[in-house]
Amino acid sequence: MPRVLVVEDEEDIAFPLVRTLEREGYDVVWVDRGQKALEDLAGGATAVPADVVILDLGLPDMDGLEVCRRAREAGFGGAIMIVTARAAELDRVVGLDYGADDYVAKPFGLAELQARVRALLRRTTAVREPEPAHDGLRIDVGARRVYAGDVEVPLTGKEFDVLSILAAQRDKVVSRGRLMADVWDENWYGSTKTLDVTIGRLRQKLESVGVTEKVVAVRGVGFRLETPAP
Ligand code: CA
Repeated sequence: MPRVLVVEDEEDIAFPLVRTLEREGYDVVWVDRGQKALEDLAGGATAVPADVVILDLGLPDMDGLEVCRRAREAGFGGAIMIVTARAAELDRVVGLDYGADDYVAKPFGLAELQARVRALLRRTTAVREPEPAHDGLRIDVGARRVYAGDVEVPLTGKEFDVLSILAAQRDKVVSRGRLMADVWDENWYGSTKTLDVTIGRLRQKLESVGVTEKVVAVRGVGFRLETPAP
C-alpha cells in the first residue's frame, strides 16, 4: 500500500485531504509541523519511508521549502508535492531548486490532487527497475541518485525523472508527449518549453561532470540518450 505523508497545519485542509487519500487506499500519516515531518521521513514514526509527501509551505515552525531541502539532503528519495496558498511563492519554488517534484496552489480540488498523487506514484514505481550495468552513467533508482563514476550528479526531481525514462530506453527516441505525460501531467497540452528547459539543465549537469552519454534532440519527435561509440 503506498504511503502518503501529509504535512499541513490547518485542520480544515488536512482532514478532508487525509480522508480522501485513505478512501483511495493509501496509508496516510498526517503531521502538522515541519520538524515532525522530518522525523517521520527519517523513519521515526513508522520506520517506513513515505512514497509521496504533500507539503504545505506555511508551517508554524519551519518553512516548507526548508523541510524539502533537508529531506533531500538526508537522502529522502520519494516524491514531494508542494502546496501553498501564496501563489506568488510558486514562482520562487519553481525557480529555485529545492528538490520538489510537483506544485499545487491552494485552494486545490481534491480530485485534482488525487490525480497528481497517482501520477507521482506511477513515476516513482515505474522507474524502480534495476538499471543494467553501464560504464558511464549509473542510476540508483531506489535512492533517486545519479553518478558519473564516483561523482554524484545533483539533479532535481524532474531532471531525474526525465533522465530515468531516457535511460530505460537507451539509444531509442522517447517522444515529447510521453515525457510530458509521464513527468509533468498526463493531461498536458500545448507548450513543451518546460521540457526543453529541463533537458537544457540536464545536459549542462551531465557535461559538467564529463558524462560521455549525450541527450540528443530528434527534431519533431523527442529525445534520445545516446551511448557514445566505443
Ligand atoms: Ca499552513
